[in-house]
Amino acid sequence: MHEMALAESIVGILEDQARVQNYARVRTVWLEVGPFANVEIEALRFSFDVVTRGTLAEGARLECDSPAARAWCMPCGESVAIAQRFDACPLCGGHQLQVTSGDEFRVKELEVD
Ligand SMILES: [Zn+2]
Repeated sequence: MHEMALAESIVGILEDQARVQNYARVRTVWLEVGPFANVEIEALRFSFDVVTRGTLAEGARLECDSPAARAWCMPCGESVAIAQRFDACPLCGGHQLQVTSGDEFRVKELEVD
């Protein structure tokens, strides 16, 4: 379960940021999780609850935002939104797509005290 490692890396980020921004407590963490990031949100929530115990983020809320993935369609010469990695182009129905985003996993925003 790599969600445990991801949760630990989030806590690492929160602790680093606490030193920079000088906060003592994290209330909410907004994450951006792309549809191809291979992150099981429920598993991540569980892991986050476990690894934040006794840290500055104990009891913090985890909010996950999942933006649509994008791909570049060669025939259309345009960037299009896709739901699955091997989706056809929504404009021309073609499959000459180059996935350009969708595997991001990052902390987008924090609510802190
Ligand atoms: Zn197209």
